Amino acid sequence: MGLTVAHELARNGRSIKILSRRRSEAAGFVAAGMLAPHAEGLQGNLLKLGQLSLKRIPRWVQKIEEDSGLNCGLKNCGIVVPFISTEARDAHPTALFGHSLNRQELELEIPGIASQWKTGLLFKQDGQIDNRRQLMKALEKACVERGVHFQEGVEVLNLLHDKREFKGVNILNPEGKVEIISSKEAVLCSGAWSNQIFNAIPIFPVKGQMLSLQGPKEALKRIIFGPGTYIVPREDGLIVIGATSEQNAGFQEGLTPSGQQELHKGIGALLPAANHWPQMERWWGFRPCTPDEGPLLGSSLLKGLWLATGHHRNGVLLAAITAELLAKCICQNKLSKEEDELLTQFSWKRFGTNQSFSH
Ligand SMILES: Cc1cc2nc3c(=O)[nH]c(=O)nc-3n(C[C@H](O)[C@H](O)[C@H](O)COP(=O)(O)OP(=O)(O)OC[C@H]3O[C@@H](n4cnc5c(N)ncnc54)[C@H](O)[C@@H]3O)c2cc1C
Repeated sequence: MGLTVAHELARNGRSIKILSRRRSEAAGFVAAGMLAPHAEGLQGNLLKLGQLSLKRIPRWVQKIEEDSGLNCGLKNCGIVVPFISTEARDAHPTALFGHSLNRQELELEIPGIASQWKTGLLFKQDGQIDNRRQLMKALEKACVERGVHFQEGVEVLNLLHDKREFKGVNILNPEGKVEIISSKEAVLCSGAWSNQIFNAIPIFPVKGQMLSLQGPKEALKRIIFGPGTYIVPREDGLIVIGATSEQNAGFQEGLTPSGQQELHKGIGALLPAANHWPQMERWWGFRPCTPDEGPLLGSSLLKGLWLATGHHRNGVLLAAITAELLAKCICQNKLSKEEDELLTQFSWKRFGTNQSFSH
């Protein structure tokens, strides 16, 4: 979120500084990169936000690729969601947006899919982007090319404010000294850690463990999105498998045997042959989650402090719309009625306006 919002603001002529503690901990490097509002079965305003973002992604990617000169790894591969019965398929919240597959068609789309899956939905409009190896690097380069200044290895300790007006932050610099950075405006986009800086917002971590395999080239052309496990084939044959969803792990770092077993069990239930493919990497990270699993976008209870956080399972998908909405608010550009409504729906106010905060 920090990179995409900074990039869009810089394109709008703003002077931007990014304060970043540790890029390797960012969920942006952890995610599977699925662009999957329909496969995920999003509902209500979150579905609307996801669909709007999905529509904006090609143009968003084009801007990043033009500015960076790097490819983002966008792949319009479609996603197949398998079901054990037609009843389960028809109950999928976004079934209306998908194309129904019978067992024979399912086998054609996903050769080797386990026999328990009798039917499926193909969402041709959903896809993926190679966030881990391509998008994050391209976004960073695009920011640099647009004059964004980076301070890496810097921890924001707390916010400075005068009554309800944002004034800046205290940071711990890489030399271990506390410094003040004064500013009239900032965007809070510190992911799962956001509420450590600003405790008025309800954000908590949901840990996810991942792994990757090297499949035979072109073994899979589409993503398979099963219950609890998904299989994402990259362009070069690398296959990304995700993900556990651990609400009670807090910020506990590292892999666990039970988390990794869960992934292998999930692979076996979807595509048994894949459990014999060579294993490549294993990693983990923290999704920034809110009580209703929707993001916090736009203004906050501090004038000058903007929010772009809480994107939970869909931060890669929602990056395009988040950047556009935030840049429009901050630069006071005209918002369409739909955009204005979405900002209201995803305001921090939905969690109560009587919150206090300390620093
Ligand atoms: C296992 C897993 C799979 C996922 N799969 C998908 C997917 O397929 N599709 C999808 O759309 N989304 C997916 N997501 C969700 C997506 O990755 C996140 O929603 C998104 O990356 C959140 O972006 P963010 O910028 O808010 O947080 P992050 O990417 O976590 O970035 C937060 C940054 O803030 C910095 N920071 C934190 N505290 C401080 C501080 N005090 N001072 C300075 N810097 C600080 C951190 O160092 C970090 O760099 C997945 C997430 C996980 C964990």
